[in-house]
Amino acid sequence: MSPLDQPTEPVDEDRGLGPSHEAPPVRDFLDRSRWPADEWRLTERRYDAGDLGLTETLFAVGNGYLGLRGNVEEGRDSHTHGTFVNGFHETWPIQHAEEAFGFARVGQTIVNAPDAKIVRLYVDDEPLLLSVADLHEYERSLDLRDGVLRRRLLWRTPSGKRVLVESTRMVSLEQKHLAVMTFEVTLLDDPAPVAISSQILNRQDGEDEYHVRHKAMGEGSDPRKAEQLTRRVLQPQTNEGDAGTGRVALGFRCAESGMTLGVMADHDIVTENEFTSRVVTGEDLAKTTYRIAAQPGVPVRLTKTVAYHTSRGVPSRELLDRCRRTLDRARDLGVPELRAEQRAWLDAFWARADVEVPGQPEVQQAIRWNLFSIMQAAARAEGQGIPAKGVTGSGYGGHSFWDTEVYVMPFLTYTTPRAARNALRFRYSLLDAARRRAGQLAQKGALFPWRTINGEEASAYYAAGTAQYHIDADIAYALSQYVGATGDVEFLDREGIDVFVETARLWADLGFWRSEEGSTFHIHGVTGPDEYTTVVNDNLYTNVMARFNLRRAAEAVRTLRDVNPSAYADAKARLSLTDEEVEEWGRAARNMSIPFDEHLGIHPQDSHFLEREMWDLDHTPLDKRPLLLNYHPLVIYRFQVLKQADVVLALFLQGEDFTPEQKRADFEYYDPITTGDSTLSAVVQSIIASEVGYHDLAYRYFLSALFVDLADRHGNTSDGVHVASTGGVWSAVAAGFGGFRDLGAGQWTMDPRLPDDWESLTYRLTLRGTRVRVTVRPDELELVVEDGQGHLAFEVRGAEVVVGPDAPVTVPLAGQGPRLEGQPPSPIGTRRSDGTIISAIVPGA
Ligand code: BGC
Repeated sequence: MSPLDQPTEPVDEDRGLGPSHEAPPVRDFLDRSRWPADEWRLTERRYDAGDLGLTETLFAVGNGYLGLRGNVEEGRDSHTHGTFVNGFHETWPIQHAEEAFGFARVGQTIVNAPDAKIVRLYVDDEPLLLSVADLHEYERSLDLRDGVLRRRLLWRTPSGKRVLVESTRMVSLEQKHLAVMTFEVTLLDDPAPVAISSQILNRQDGEDEYHVRHKAMGEGSDPRKAEQLTRRVLQPQTNEGDAGTGRVALGFRCAESGMTLGVMADHDIVTENEFTSRVVTGEDLAKTTYRIAAQPGVPVRLTKTVAYHTSRGVPSRELLDRCRRTLDRARDLGVPELRAEQRAWLDAFWARADVEVPGQPEVQQAIRWNLFSIMQAAARAEGQGIPAKGVTGSGYGGHSFWDTEVYVMPFLTYTTPRAARNALRFRYSLLDAARRRAGQLAQKGALFPWRTINGEEASAYYAAGTAQYHIDADIAYALSQYVGATGDVEFLDREGIDVFVETARLWADLGFWRSEEGSTFHIHGVTGPDEYTTVVNDNLYTNVMARFNLRRAAEAVRTLRDVNPSAYADAKARLSLTDEEVEEWGRAARNMSIPFDEHLGIHPQDSHFLEREMWDLDHTPLDKRPLLLNYHPLVIYRFQVLKQADVVLALFLQGEDFTPEQKRADFEYYDPITTGDSTLSAVVQSIIASEVGYHDLAYRYFLSALFVDLADRHGNTSDGVHVASTGGVWSAVAAGFGGFRDLGAGQWTMDPRLPDDWESLTYRLTLRGTRVRVTVRPDELELVVEDGQGHLAFEVRGAEVVVGPDAPVTVPLAGQGPRLEGQPPSPIGTRRSDGTIISAIVPGA
């Protein structure tokens, strides 16, 4: 029996209060009578109108380009209707109450695309409305193997007739612009008039059917939500309908961004019952309705295929032509074939990416849902970013952040390199905008936007936005990891090199030399990942990552010069590159200032961090969490308190730069003062807790990350999936428990930490085109080549092993690394080197 089988008392977080800074105890976060532990499906056995926001997100289907929230077909009961097309956004001028030079100007918000999910049902003219319907049976499930969302319900109408309603929905992974839905109605007892109304509705400008505006885009003033645009966004361009075929279409243009969208739906009804159909189109609504004289036992089957195409400006008529081609092809293929394609796509995905934890069905299910969610965010993003919420919600306005490079890219690089390459090419495509942005900030090189859809900086709050210069190094890091893991030097030589050069230039220019200290290189006035301390000098994470960026860029240029002289000559001319600047990068990297406090034996998060007093988290009521929603930023910035891992993240990403003693000391200092108010924290805390030996704590952090969305642990899953956390879950498995580290240039190491209750853990890595299955057991590590012809060398706890096709390797393991019990004590009360005591308060208490 798995330990998660034990239900435990609900904790405060379940009552809607903020998450505690302490990792939760090991427990099952889900009510299994509603959410059975099925290893390949996420199933809901009971309809609950009380948490629609959550279930709409959990049951969202998408492919990285198109995303449909798990809204019910009937369209009425909802928290937030949502249909998203990656990159399809509206712009607006950011109005700063107090202006300053260089502030971000172009607000960008993902548009709620016209909703084509709606299929309304009336029996005896009574609408099916789930919240009040007499439901005799109900089940909804998302099958992670075939990517189809299915719902089956038995409705007893007010006049006592039983109606079986079965529906499916999928967004094709193979046909990027296509969604396929089916809706089947069977009367079980008596005949009745049935009406089915299938619609495409513009909700952005909108309204839902009861004219409830906030339901179109979400509500409230949480800064993590999307901007609300009160003016009209989607300007109707065309609408058409074909009464003969039931095909309907709408075309729009965004008022400010000028982006265009075409959406078209095909309908195919199959029934032995008599019926008539009708098509009605208007500017914001297109519908095909069927009136059916339904007989008991005679099903009505409706198939609705929908295509979306978007563009930066191609007229929507042209987009409707593209929709037509997509739908014609889909019709030729037919639903069974489209499903088979989907299944084959996912079979290949799981073969590359699956993680197996036998004997732990709850954990297994949750891991797969998380991996599936990364896939849904990234698979066909192609040329667009991977937004913080993927295509499942409008949270963070649909913007992409560093989340992509640090949290999502590792999974993509090691399991789905094609998607990783696309994510990097997206950044490459933003290079000119990033060069301009660097210029606006009086710097050389390129500065990537902290948050963006179209490449322009969209963060209006610079302290926790633009000041996060580390995004440049994060992108360079992901690029380096991708090239090292795949061997894709062609991409590096042609495009990636420009990213290395321009980011290195930024650091070389942003930092400065202090010669009186024996020439150290400093970077001042930046914000690290921890947004609870901003605009600081020598942020540890930034300096460590900038050092890597500078080093790696210099090395990439030298290798290009030696190995590919013609590409080097091109790059030199294109980038006006000089030997002197490359020398300078190396010097800056070698002399980078890395704050270290000898007295405490830790790396201060920045040069003044330790001067601050601490925030007393133990005595901060949960209803005051997360801090960002309850205290002015200035109050928070005054204290040693972390929103999210900062130094501890550097320990993971640049582990070779730190000794084991430093890692432990840093972890012990920062862990108790890390709030976990960001979901980007727990996965990192889990990885370093594993490495330094806090095995129980590592597992608790892991579970809390694993259930971030499934159990709505941060209370805002309704805004969309926390995609960074889902990516981090993979890293916590592969790097944390699996002990995998990529030291660059094809150096891969493994030092596993299998959780006590797991009999084994299997994960997969694709390196240089060869896929290895890694299985960790309590006493051994097994490596098997599953696909490809390469031989791969790993260092397993210091010993080199080589695995090749037909040559599996098993390495005995003496235990699972160091063992430290409990969790680190709070550093409150520690003395600084000057003898003062680090005290703590709860501000305003
Ligand atoms: C985090 C950022 C992150 C953003 C989007 C914020 O809460 O502090 O690091 O990039 O969320 O996920």
